Amino acid sequence: MPPKSFTYFIKVFGCQMNYADAEKIFSTLAKKGWKKAADLSSAHLLVAVSCGVRQGAEDRVINWLEKTRKTNPGAILVLAGCLGHREDLKQRLRNIVDYFLPAGKRLPSSLINPLYPVLAKGESAYGGNPIYLSRAYIPITVGCDNFCSYCVVPYARGRERSLPPENIIKKAKNLVKKGYKELFLLGQNVNSYRGADRKGKVWTFSQILRTLNAVPGNFWIKFISSHPKDINREMMLAVKDCRKVSKNLHLPLQSGSNKILLAMNRKYRRSDYLATVNEIKKNIPDVVLSTDIIVGFPGETARDFRASLSAVREVGFEMLYALKYSPRPETAAFKLKDDVPAWMKKERQQKLDRVWKKIALKKNKRFLGKNTLILIDRIKQKTNRKGSVNFYALGKNFENKDVAALIKRSGKSKHNLAGKWGVARINQVGALGLSGELVEGEKNV
Ligand code: SAH
Ligand code: SF4
Repeated sequence: MPPKSFTYFIKVFGCQMNYADAEKIFSTLAKKGWKKAADLSSAHLLVAVSCGVRQGAEDRVINWLEKTRKTNPGAILVLAGCLGHREDLKQRLRNIVDYFLPAGKRLPSSLINPLYPVLAKGESAYGGNPIYLSRAYIPITVGCDNFCSYCVVPYARGRERSLPPENIIKKAKNLVKKGYKELFLLGQNVNSYRGADRKGKVWTFSQILRTLNAVPGNFWIKFISSHPKDINREMMLAVKDCRKVSKNLHLPLQSGSNKILLAMNRKYRRSDYLATVNEIKKNIPDVVLSTDIIVGFPGETARDFRASLSAVREVGFEMLYALKYSPRPETAAFKLKDDVPAWMKKERQQKLDRVWKKIALKKNKRFLGKNTLILIDRIKQKTNRKGSVNFYALGKNFENKDVAALIKRSGKSKHNLAGKWGVARINQVGALGLSGELVEGEKNV
């Protein structure tokens, strides 16, 4: 007997852009009547939305594919995302993966047509949660033209394109109507946005922010990542003026050394970056800055690394991803000797982590004793040492800090808090986030 409905299972690796890709795949499948499988072993179609930004990420995807193939030998297995275009992987994984789907592309109808006979096997179970609850990701630019020497993005996702402003605004309005409380604008360089409308007029990122801010409703607007070269006064003022726009700017620096920035083909120097940050701080007094730093890029000396450390201290980043350089096929830096030993990369990464966490801990103290509005993502159950069970609302605040808030009330209603606003009174802070008590369950902004 063929199953009544076909089921899929999507595994997402990596950044929010992949979650947006997964959403696209999910909606194509849903339109064709596919249902989400209860688990991986019962699905007819398995999709890995992969990340290829570093070797470690690539290894994790390949392990998952190998394991999954063993668990569910009959399913169609698709490798999507940033590894979906890689010729070497097509060869290497040809006995495991059935279909390779380059990043951002749609599943071909031949593969997901419900009458496709190869899929008519096994029984299925349905269920599962939607991918998103309270937060909706909206890609507004895709791809990248910058060709930083270490980065696969221009190869994996192609040249930079901006989505038409009308599409973005329509999508945003629909999402707000559906009850989403946070619109997360995505782009490899979100602020390089230059999208033409139907009349041929080109919009800037600031215009998108101001227009979305004017959409009626209680919601927040966040965005990631901003490229330092494309921050201008117009953008700073838009972020400052727009009430719904979070003041968190993720501004990847990559290195504090000019020699390394040059070798990375970044389009700014240390002093340009620091001058931009000063301007930002002047224009947006409550700005929260975060960044990415690569450690162990070929040729990075102790002195270059110290330059990264001093830049981090000077800016005072409240969050930082310290990434060990990982040579990526296709990129220009792949030809360079990966000459910083693994242990040294690790040491530098740990040092950076210590430095930013100290800054973050200090800065997070401003929340102590205060109420902070959070968007609740999920409810977590935790048993303490005495054996009693506590429930926590986990979410993020406007500044994009992680917040865990103890729920005092009893009864089942606490489980319905996910996807709603809450107010947390903060009584403890760490480098990675804030914690306290939920003082109000539902709240309007
Ligand atoms: N477009 C953004 C960053 C997008 S990629 C910008 O340029 O500002 C996300 C992060 O992955 C980068 O900021 C970089 O720090 C990291 N990354 C990319 N390629 C890498 C590599 N080969 N090794 C280590 N980190 C890498
Ligand atoms: Fe583009 Fe450079 Fe960012 Fe990669 S790191 S996405 S190449 S700007």
